[in-house]
Amino acid sequence: MIVKKKDIRALTKEQLRNFFVENGDKAFRGNQVYEWLWHKAAHSFDDMTSLSKATRKMLDENFVINHIEVDTMQRSNDGTIKNAIKLHDGLIVESVLIPTEKRTTACVSSQVGCSLDCKFCATARLKRMRNLNADEIYDQVVAIDKQSRLYHNHKLSNIVFMGMGEPLMNYNNVIKAIDKITSEEGLGMAARRITVSTSGVPKIIKKMADDEVRFNLAVSLHSAIDEVRTSIMPFNATFPLKDLKEALEYWYEKTNRKITYEYVVWNGINDRKEDIDALVRFCSYVPCKVNLIEYNPIDDGEFQQASDRALNNYISNLEMNDIVVNVRRSRGKDIDAACGQLANKS
Ligand code: SAH
Repeated sequence: MIVKKKDIRALTKEQLRNFFVENGDKAFRGNQVYEWLWHKAAHSFDDMTSLSKATRKMLDENFVINHIEVDTMQRSNDGTIKNAIKLHDGLIVESVLIPTEKRTTACVSSQVGCSLDCKFCATARLKRMRNLNADEIYDQVVAIDKQSRLYHNHKLSNIVFMGMGEPLMNYNNVIKAIDKITSEEGLGMAARRITVSTSGVPKIIKKMADDEVRFNLAVSLHSAIDEVRTSIMPFNATFPLKDLKEALEYWYEKTNRKITYEYVVWNGINDRKEDIDALVRFCSYVPCKVNLIEYNPIDDGEFQQASDRALNNYISNLEMNDIVVNVRRSRGKDIDAACGQLANKS
C-alpha cells in the first residue's frame, strides 16, 4: 500500500512537538524542525543539519516538504523582476519584485488564477484553479526576499497582496502566511509593511477587523457608482457599494486605520464629473487616501487610460476636498509584470 506522505508544513508547531513525543523523542525536536521549515525555509530534510541522520530519515519517511520553485525569472529594464513560480503540483503563479530607490516590494499571489471577473484584468481570464496554501504564499516572499538581497543588497521592505487572486477569498491561508511572515520564527517583518488588496468582500473585511489584524487594507474601487462598478467588476452585483461602505466603516471603527483606494481612470468609463463626485463622496465615509493607478493595457483595446486632463480633474477635486491622492506609475510593463498583467504568458 502506498501511503501519501503529509505536507509537514501543514502542521502547527504544537502538532510537530507531539509528533516527536509520540515517536519517543523530545518535544523540543519539534521546535528545531519548525525553525528549519519556516525561519530557515529548508527545502529538504537533508538540509536540516542539526538533526541526526536517523531523525532526518524518519521525517523523510513520514512527510514531504512541498516547496515552490522559481521556474522562470524575467528582469525589466526598470529593475522589476517577474517570477513564474512552479507549485508542487505543477501549477504556476506569478510573483514580482518591485524596486524603488529606497525600498523593495514583493507583489505576491494568493490564488492560482482568480474567480473574480474584472473586465480590465488579465488574471481574470485564467480560471481559478485553487487557493494557495499558507506555505506557498510564504515561500513566494522568501524567494523574493532572496532576490532583493542578491540584486539590491538589502532585505525585502514591503509586501503587497496584489498578484494573482483575491486574497479575501483565501482568507485563512493568507492570514496564516502573514502570521508566519511577521513572526520572529518566520521572517520577522512588521505587519505595517504589508498591504492586502481586495476587490472588497464585506463579510471578510469585518472579520479582519474582528481579528484585529495589523496589516494595511487597500480596496480596488475603480468606481463609486454601482452601475459603473458592476459593469467593470461584475462581483459588485453581489457585494454592492452600500455593503462595502458599511464594512469599511466597521473596519475603521475597530482598527482606526486608514484605507487606501486603488483607482484607475479610463476613457469613457469613469472620467465624468459625476464619477469624480461619487468618489469624493465615498471618500468622506472613512479616513482614506486614493492611489490613482496607471492602466496597464491587456491588449484588447476596450479599456484605455484616460487623458492627463481627466486625471488632473480627479486630482484637483480630491485635493480640494482634502483627500490625499497619489499617482502610481506602473513598473515592469515591458515584461507584463505590472498590476493586472499577470497571466502566465510565458
Ligand atoms: N484581487 C485583488 C488583488 C489583485 S489585483 C484586488 O482586486 O485588489 C491588484 C490591483 O491591480 C487591483 O487594484 C486591480 O484593480 C488592479 N488592476 C487589475 N488589472 C489592472 C490593469 N490592467 N491595470 C492596472 N491595474 C489593474
